[in-house]
Amino acid sequence: MTDRQLDFGDFILPFQVEGLGVRGRLVRMDRTVRDIIGNGRYPNDVAILLATTTALSAALASGLKYDGVFTLQAQGNGPVSLLLADMTSDGDMRGYAKYDADTLPGAENTGAMVPRLLGAGHLAFTVDQGQNTDRYQGITELSGGTLADCAQIYFRDSEQLDTAVVLDASRDNKGLIRAGAFVIQKMPDQPIDTEIPGNHQETWREATVLAATLKASELLDPTLPARNLLFRLFHERGVRVFEAKPIQHACRCGRKRVENTLASFPEAEINAMRENGEISVTCEFCGLNYRFDEKDLRALYA
Ligand SMILES: [Zn+2]
Repeated sequence: MTDRQLDFGDFILPFQVEGLGVRGRLVRMDRTVRDIIGNGRYPNDVAILLATTTALSAALASGLKYDGVFTLQAQGNGPVSLLLADMTSDGDMRGYAKYDADTLPGAENTGAMVPRLLGAGHLAFTVDQGQNTDRYQGITELSGGTLADCAQIYFRDSEQLDTAVVLDASRDNKGLIRAGAFVIQKMPDQPIDTEIPGNHQETWREATVLAATLKASELLDPTLPARNLLFRLFHERGVRVFEAKPIQHACRCGRKRVENTLASFPEAEINAMRENGEISVTCEFCGLNYRFDEKDLRALYA
């Protein structure tokens, strides 16, 4: 990616701060997040929550080595019952939310996002690398106020990996949503290439203090290039920035996939679901509609 694209765009920028013994990723999502959320498809609160979910998904996926699909899923008993965002190892992202418009709190309620919108439930990460491979799964309760809190708690308690997460999404004055994520993780204990005295726990504390100075306005500022943001935070400790990886919106649905799903049910069951002789299937991710008439269905079960 060119430096110009790195000002603000759709990418994951991995970095490492040797002097602090941390590695991390900076995620910025511009057009991708708006394509995923769709214009007017969701009420504002839900759109913002889904936008942060996609940014978190990209940040967590890029910390793993995998060849397949990473999925982040949050399920709750609140007005938003499901948030789903997945990313392939090629950077194709998609996502959607399920919500109950009748129970969504009004704009006057400005409490923490997770308890207010999702309620009680869990956050799960899965990596699917295809048939005959192990499926990695991590799961944690929705115990924090924000998705960033929940992710930090997961890494601390389940993976014993100190992690700091800054996550945000908001609209600019033109109403355009952008999302960003910033994640740092303590590298496994190893001799740190540094002249700075102090043990790893102290350098980790310093890293989290620096991370806490990162403001949402900086994370989402389209005029602040990503590299400058990282240098502003870590210049004293020598930050090394790796090659950015682009992300883009792409859905993996297709007529063939829908056919395979339909064919996995008994014909009688599918026939019982027909309306006006047709079966209509809408992709929850991208909204594409697939129709199967009498003739299509006969061919499917022939
Ligand atoms: Zn789709």
